Amino acid sequence: MFIYNTLSGKKEEVKNTGRTLRLFVCGPTVYDYAHIGHARTYLVFDSIVRYLRYRNFDVFYLQNITDIDDKIIERGKSEKRSPFALVKSFEKKYLEDMKNLGIVSVNEYAPASKFIPEIVRQVQALIKKGYAYEAEDGYYFDISKFKDYGKLAHRTVEAAEDSTSRIDTGKDKINKGDFALWKFVSSKNPTGKKIKIIKGEPAWNTSLGWGRPGWHIEDTAISEKFFGPQYDLHGGAVDLKFPHHEAEIAQQEAASGKHPFVKTWMHTGFLLINGKKMSKSLKNFLTIRDFLKEYPPEVLRWMVLRHHYRSPVNYTNALAEQARTEILKLTDLVNKLNMVIKNNKKIVSSGDMHIHIEKLQRSFHETLDDDFNTPEFMGHLFASEAMYQDKLWGVSAEDAKKLKEFIDSTLDILGIKLKTYKIPRDIQKIANDREKFRGSKQFMQSDALRKKLKGLGYSLEDTPLGPWLKPI
Ligand code: AMP
Repeated sequence: MFIYNTLSGKKEEVKNTGRTLRLFVCGPTVYDYAHIGHARTYLVFDSIVRYLRYRNFDVFYLQNITDIDDKIIERGKSEKRSPFALVKSFEKKYLEDMKNLGIVSVNEYAPASKFIPEIVRQVQALIKKGYAYEAEDGYYFDISKFKDYGKLAHRTVEAAEDSTSRIDTGKDKINKGDFALWKFVSSKNPTGKKIKIIKGEPAWNTSLGWGRPGWHIEDTAISEKFFGPQYDLHGGAVDLKFPHHEAEIAQQEAASGKHPFVKTWMHTGFLLINGKKMSKSLKNFLTIRDFLKEYPPEVLRWMVLRHHYRSPVNYTNALAEQARTEILKLTDLVNKLNMVIKNNKKIVSSGDMHIHIEKLQRSFHETLDDDFNTPEFMGHLFASEAMYQDKLWGVSAEDAKKLKEFIDSTLDILGIKLKTYKIPRDIQKIANDREKFRGSKQFMQSDALRKKLKGLGYSLEDTPLGPWLKPI
């Protein structure tokens, strides 16, 4: 298994040592509905984990949920809503969306607010080791103390400082790029309470003072709690490389003195819309919910896996329509194979199918073991559909079964289930009656029954094995 590691800039072999493969993926900031850009990243990791498990890796997949963040506070203030109520409701919606997309591989969702003691402990460790300092509005990480800062994004400290993405502002920071570990929330009358909302900002009463964690420390405190100071795989979309993942490396390696913090860093490409990142802040997003009103979930997964996970994808309606058409063609194929399985028991296997499936099976492993090259495999699989269009009806039942099982099982590994068309008895009877009329050249009657079937929601295709029906 080879995976592209952002840290080294190369594909590297990931061996199955028999030990648990620990994967952490950055979860969403829950202040709005999740969009199909989020879905792209989470569908990719879900399919990757499914494939790794199929290849016998014992994966533990941990995902945090950012439920404390400046963006949440801003949204809460603008809607006059408690930040706690806001995140609770959107966390629930996010988990529903994941379920509706068939994302089932995550072992643990970890909301940051449940890990305040771990966060405080990590900040204390950084203070003790001289990497963190107290400023007017909180504790900051001093990036000049960490000599490897910039190693993931391949930036110098100076270049890193020019970044503007979610950089914390603080009047008396030592370096422009220093990031917040703990943000003070002033409280004139701290009570005995442990948690309070002070002017719309959630605050915890801790040894660091009343306040809340910075964004980056939430993730390392959670991963350290589950995995310890070092683990195998870390994922997220490409925007998180800097400063978020860079900050995570700095914090964890500084706190523990151990490196590398994470062996392999994986970054997914963006889902774009009109050439721009689909994002909540740009308000150019299509929610997962709205997408699922138009299309079944497998269309989104198919569309996502039709592209390499590291490449950007520009979303258009045409792209979704193309995915829908391709899924439909494959669904038709496996349903037609069902008919062949029932009818062609007497035909002898040619052996060709066996060779074809062996080739497909090899390509499944070769392409996915090579940095999860799903588009290449899906291209091969889809070529099968075209290849069997014409000769399908003469294939033996045994061969048809092999092909159907191969398509079903490989797509199932990636998280796609193709529908089996259910044809009610009375509908089948109408089709059989029509066949009799057709056989006796009573075309008016047979056309009338075809029309009737259409009215009842079924299309009919005449095949050498008899009428083939599917719901419209
Ligand atoms: P956020 O809710 O912005 O914290 O994002 C949660 C995760 O979704 C992060 O890994 C993001 O990088 C990823 N993500 C957000 N927008 C997109 C997008 N348009 N395409 C792909 N991944 C995205």
